[in-house]
Amino acid sequence: MACEGGALAAEKAGRGSKYGILDLDISHTCLYAILMILAERLRTADDVAHELMETERLVDLLQLKAARLAAALAETKLWDEAGFNNPGDWMRFHCHLTNNVAWDRIAVGKRLGQMPESEQALYDGDIGYAHLRVMARTADAVGAKAFDESKLLPLARENSPGKFYYKCLHYRHAVDAKAYSDEQSELVENRRLSLSTAEDGCLLISGVLDPVGGAAVRTALEPLARKSGVGDDRGLEQRYADALVELAHGGKPANLQVTATVETLKGLAGAAAGEMEFSLPLSSTTIERMACDCSVTRVLLSQESVVIDLGRSKRVISGPAMRALKSRDGHCRWPGCERPASWCDGHHVVHWIRGGETDLDNLVLLCHRHHWKVHEGAWQLVMTADGRVVPIAPTITFGRARGPD
Ligand SMILES: [Zn+2]
Ligand SMILES: [Zn+2]
Repeated sequence: MACEGGALAAEKAGRGSKYGILDLDISHTCLYAILMILAERLRTADDVAHELMETERLVDLLQLKAARLAAALAETKLWDEAGFNNPGDWMRFHCHLTNNVAWDRIAVGKRLGQMPESEQALYDGDIGYAHLRVMARTADAVGAKAFDESKLLPLARENSPGKFYYKCLHYRHAVDAKAYSDEQSELVENRRLSLSTAEDGCLLISGVLDPVGGAAVRTALEPLARKSGVGDDRGLEQRYADALVELAHGGKPANLQVTATVETLKGLAGAAAGEMEFSLPLSSTTIERMACDCSVTRVLLSQESVVIDLGRSKRVISGPAMRALKSRDGHCRWPGCERPASWCDGHHVVHWIRGGETDLDNLVLLCHRHHWKVHEGAWQLVMTADGRVVPIAPTITFGRARGPD
């Protein structure tokens, strides 16, 4: 009962006095007991929602208390005497925090004197601790002289912390455009992109882009990373990966130079794999997909690998045929997929390698992902009499029946 009383007192103190929370002393066992009491009280969805909001509010008040203490600790020599480089490091180690959280706490605690109304708004439940954090960091960025709480508090009341952060960036620009621009330039200096090839041939990508460069990349990737039709069960990261590959193709699949023998093209047993710059050897199914819509150059080699005949490069689907195909299909023909024609390949329903004609009856537009599904993914495309395209999933064979001994 004493514990429950403590919680109520804390809530009351929080609402009433701006320093009330500092008087709050919750021991670990007591806090645990409060949590247990909260957990037991949960009944309906409304109860859960209410309890969650109350709990988060309590967490906000505790974070504010921690911020005040963090700033007070930063003023002491304790962390120095304990052998730490700075108070943030001391907090990381002793309070089990990440670097960012530790410095956020100190920033909020130090700036409280400059944002008394915002602090009160937190006690009143109008804004959250996350708002205070953004405000304190903004004060750090523009400096105590230029910082004006009264301009930001109304924005904090109206916006979620994420949106408020965004608005604060505008505020920082308005206060000092030059400093803001310098900061952005500094971010550009940190840009990097590393590409390395793993042993299995996969490309490993990691990097950092400045906000403007990053936004350009996001703008290009986002539309391509949307779900393509019903049954698209790819996760977001997979869709981003596919979008990047699609973007690299840029609707011009024939720009990659691939070398393969006729045997590989036909997928004959014993044939060597195909070759492409920057890639490990390519499987015959991949070669087949690429050959669906490409330019082919015939090169005859002698047994000593000397070129003895070089044919002219010939587009498999000629310009006029491609235009007719694009205007007929308009977008990827996979049911539910609306990837536009400029991002699609022409796919031969019966491959030209196996004698299929390159005419409209035997061609459909497919986006990169769906084209991949048909070739490497072993899906089948069936054209119905009324011109619909029906994909059929590959049959999965789990092991082989054992032959007679
Ligand atoms: Zn194809
Ligand atoms: Zn598609």
